[in-house]
Amino acid sequence: MDLTFTPEEEAFRKEARSWLDANVPRQPLPSLDTAEGFERHREWEHELNAAGWAMVPWPVEFGGRGANLIEWLIFEEEYYRAGAPGRVNQNGIFLLGPTIMEYGTAEQKARYLPKMASSEEVWGQGWSEPNAGSDMAAIQATAERQGEHYVVNGQKTWVSRGSYADWLFGLFRTDPESERHRGLSFVLVPLDAEGVTVRPIPQLDGEAGFAEVFLDDVRVPVENLLGEENKGWSVAMATAGFERGLMLRSPARFQNTARKLVALYKEAVGRGESVDPGLREAVTRAWMDAEAYTLNTYQTVSRLLEGGKIGAEASLNKIFWSELDVKMHETALALLGARGQLLPEAPAAEGVGGWLDGYLFALSGPIYAGTNEIQRNVIAERILGLPRS
Ligand SMILES: Cc1cc2nc3c(=O)[nH]c(=O)nc-3n(C[C@H](O)[C@H](O)[C@H](O)COP(=O)(O)OP(=O)(O)OC[C@H]3O[C@@H](n4cnc5c(N)ncnc54)[C@H](O)[C@@H]3O)c2cc1C
Repeated sequence: MDLTFTPEEEAFRKEARSWLDANVPRQPLPSLDTAEGFERHREWEHELNAAGWAMVPWPVEFGGRGANLIEWLIFEEEYYRAGAPGRVNQNGIFLLGPTIMEYGTAEQKARYLPKMASSEEVWGQGWSEPNAGSDMAAIQATAERQGEHYVVNGQKTWVSRGSYADWLFGLFRTDPESERHRGLSFVLVPLDAEGVTVRPIPQLDGEAGFAEVFLDDVRVPVENLLGEENKGWSVAMATAGFERGLMLRSPARFQNTARKLVALYKEAVGRGESVDPGLREAVTRAWMDAEAYTLNTYQTVSRLLEGGKIGAEASLNKIFWSELDVKMHETALALLGARGQLLPEAPAAEGVGGWLDGYLFALSGPIYAGTNEIQRNVIAERILGLPRS
């Protein structure tokens, strides 16, 4: 593998860096899991989009920049380096967008992608149900075909940013006789349709970005079906592959955390504190792991550029980044000692309060995007070829 960047890629990096340096808000935006923060993040997305930076690897006609995936990784590195806001439409741009690119009709691409790139329409992911989490094939919500419409009924839960999102993509049972992963379809549901009730769920930090969504006789036109009817499972697996294997958590995020961790360690040493040598090793290990994840991602992207696909190894990836995130935050809190318990707004937090917030969110990494236990099952069966029981 050739890890040097081409002159064009270096020029792309320079252009991205200079735009971000000039435009990233100086003050952090309020949390995107609050009503105000959500809208402020949406405005930021409009700015990114107007300048052509919203989703750089997409074709220009759909609101992208026509860049390749290596340039996307470069953009991500610059984005995190600049401390730019979290992506409020991440379920749209990173998960549904690539899925529409692969499975959507020409009309669907033209209808959905530009408004997704601009975040005029922000998307929630509707997989989980009260009785279908890890076992997603147990989905009970239905979409019954009636002429040119589906009539959708059921309940979805844990929809990130569902309290404020405009649309929901999800899996619904379209064949009432079917069982497990057969007979499911991938349907796009507007959250302002009649019969939709969105009920916010406050999270550990009290913010209510999460939501449960109740669907009562919601009429959705058949054009909102993505892929073939009753074959939604394979469409959803493609979405999950993008989520776990590449797009949701780019390496830049972890390189950025590793850099902050190294700075935290140096500050502690600089203050003359005696730091446990075990923590020095943990900091070094975190930095090395973030670099290893980066190199591995460049390898994945090189493979994709040569026509390869993301396969079951996405599960290895997901375990690696989610466990790394927890370890890095645990190390930071151990370095901070009692100060690590301060919230960002506490006067004595002096800029370190973000670690606790980050730690609480990192704890959910082994759960969302499919729990790590389930990913280990996938690795055992599909990569190692071990028997199911
Ligand atoms: C921060 C966050 C954001 C989320 N966002 C969304 C979203 O936007 N949209 C959405 O649809 N969902 C979302 N989810 C839900 C998430 O996908 C589910 O929580 C997850 O799939 C687990 O399902 P569950 O909570 O029902 O747990 P369960 O499936 O009940 O699992 C409970 C425990 O049992 C273990 N377990 C279950 N089955 C097995 C097995 N066969 N082998 C070994 N262990 C097993 C699990 O690993 C877990 O530890 C989010 C979750 C979190 C934490």
